[in-house]
Amino acid sequence: MLVVNGSQLQQPSARSPCVCTISSGRLDASALSAPGTEAAHLVERLLRLLGEDPSREGLRGTSQRVVTSLASLTAGYDQTVADVVHGAVFAEAYSEMVVVRNLEVYSLCEHHLLPFVGHAHIAYVPDGRIIGLSKLPRIVDLFARRLQIQERLTIEIAAALDDVLSPLGVAVVIEAAHFCMLMRRTQKPATKTLTSSMRGVFRSDPSTRAEFMAVIHPGHRDRR
Ligand SMILES: [Zn+2]
Repeated sequence: MLVVNGSQLQQPSARSPCVCTISSGRLDASALSAPGTEAAHLVERLLRLLGEDPSREGLRGTSQRVVTSLASLTAGYDQTVADVVHGAVFAEAYSEMVVVRNLEVYSLCEHHLLPFVGHAHIAYVPDGRIIGLSKLPRIVDLFARRLQIQERLTIEIAAALDDVLSPLGVAVVIEAAHFCMLMRRTQKPATKTLTSSMRGVFRSDPSTRAEFMAVIHPGHRDRR
C-alpha cells in the first residue's frame, strides 16, 4: 500500500492567487470584463443595502476585491478534469491500494455562499493505470472551486477518478466544517460533516474499505 500525506504534495491553487481563464459571461480574475464591472456594481449595491457606505475609506475597492475573489473561488467552472490531469496517467502493474490523505479542501456552500473547509482523503486500487499524485489536489480543487454541497463534491471527485483511471475501486472521504453553520452557531465548533463515496472494491469488499478507513482514521478501531 502507498500512503501519502496531502501536505507532501504541492497544492498551488489552494494557496496562490489563481489566474483565471475568461469564458463568456463569467467573471474573470482581472474583473475588467463587462460581467466583472456589472458584478462590482452589484456588490456595491449590496453594501448599500447592508447599510454601509461603499465610498468610505475601509470599503473603497471592496466591491472590486469581492469580484476578483469570487472569480478565483469559482475558477473550477473554467476547467475540465482533462485540463488538470493533462495526460498524467501511466500504465503500471502496481495493484495495491494508493491512499492520499489530508488534502486541503476549500469550497463555497451553494446555499449561503459561505466557505466550508476541511480535508479530503482519496484512495484507489489501480487496474493497470496510475495517476500522478500531484494531480489529486488539483482534481479536488477543480470541483471545490465551484458553488458546492459537500455531498456532491465528494461524488464528483470519485466519479472523475473512476472515469480517468477505470480502477478496481475508488474511495473519497471528506471531513469539513461549514461556516454557514459555525457562524450562525447551529453547529458546535468541533463538529465536522463527513461524507464518503465508495466505488468498486471499496463498496463490495468490507475489508478493503476497512483498510482505507484505518489508514485515514488511525486509532478508530481502538476507540470503539
Ligand atoms: Zn451553507
